[in-house]
Amino acid sequence: NRRYRKTIIAGNWKMNKTPSEAKALIEEMKPLLSKTKWCEMVLCVPFTDIQAAVKAAKGSKIAIGAENMHFEKSGAFTGEISADMLKELGVKYVIVGHSERRQYFNETDENCNKKVKAAIENGLRPILCVGESLAEREQDVTMEVIRKQVKIALQGVAAEDIKKVVIAYEPIWAIGTGKTATSEQAGEVCAKIRDCLRELYGARAARAITIQYGGSMNAKNAAELLAQPDVDGGLIGGASLKSADFAAIVEAAN
Ligand code: PGA
Repeated sequence: NRRYRKTIIAGNWKMNKTPSEAKALIEEMKPLLSKTKWCEMVLCVPFTDIQAAVKAAKGSKIAIGAENMHFEKSGAFTGEISADMLKELGVKYVIVGHSERRQYFNETDENCNKKVKAAIENGLRPILCVGESLAEREQDVTMEVIRKQVKIALQGVAAEDIKKVVIAYEPIWAIGTGKTATSEQAGEVCAKIRDCLRELYGARAARAITIQYGGSMNAKNAAELLAQPDVDGGLIGGASLKSADFAAIVEAAN
């Protein structure tokens, strides 16, 4: 699968770390992450940390990402940040539609669609998060939910751009709970997401798209999850705040 697509290990720091703490953590990580061969590394950090993080990551293979952005170019959107603004700071990736944003900040699939397109237009790679709740899994509607999230978020994204999109499968019940999906569960949903992408964009495009798993991924379970043929990386919350743990996950992906 490495022939067709990149493995990407991305950290999601959420609302953690001040700029000076970000600098210190990245400097601690840098020597641990210097040996990577296959895998791309990204750290998605709070807006206020971006400048410090980009500076600290210089000379390493770590790319910096944002955790959110607004889809409008500019204007009267108090408190919002545009793709342009991120781009100028050296941001390469942006998380779109994280379940915490869907849950607490009214992020909708339609919003995600606008953000995915705005990110691509501005040369940022969106990491589109999709995933089912526990109730949805128990009602056996996991794939209906995820197919809808994927289809709406990608509406109007051109075939030549789809490779720029990273999809993160994050079952909501596994996020921050210590309850990881089994590697079979993760592998199964990621494979079905790829089926959905194949229907939308054809086999060639679908096999070139990186699909990550996220949700309590850690140094212990990463190798098994990443061994699944359709799991091409991880979106890591808690464990990305500890240099040794993040490095161990990157190592497992190498
Ligand atoms: P977690 O978070 O690794 O702490 O479960 C993952 C995420 O929310 O992206």
